[in-house]
Amino acid sequence: MGCRQRRPQEQLVRIALVNGVLRLSRTAPGRGAWLCPTETCLQAATARRGFDRALRTTITPVQLEGLSDQVLLGR
Ligand SMILES: [Zn+2]
Repeated sequence: MGCRQRRPQEQLVRIALVNGVLRLSRTAPGRGAWLCPTETCLQAATARRGFDRALRTTITPVQLEGLSDQVLLGR
């Protein structure tokens, strides 16, 4: 979703919106955004508003705070 590289799903992390909070979860219901567990990919996704598209909602900067820590720890 971020850098557009193709990777097998087991190398990606899934971000889901749970009660208005972005969380790393492979099992949370609803839409999910898959991306590489790298700062680069996360920044690319954020710059392109990829989360808005993938999750079909508007993600605010506040919701994105702390997400990179989760993503980088989740790999
Ligand atoms: Zn990527």
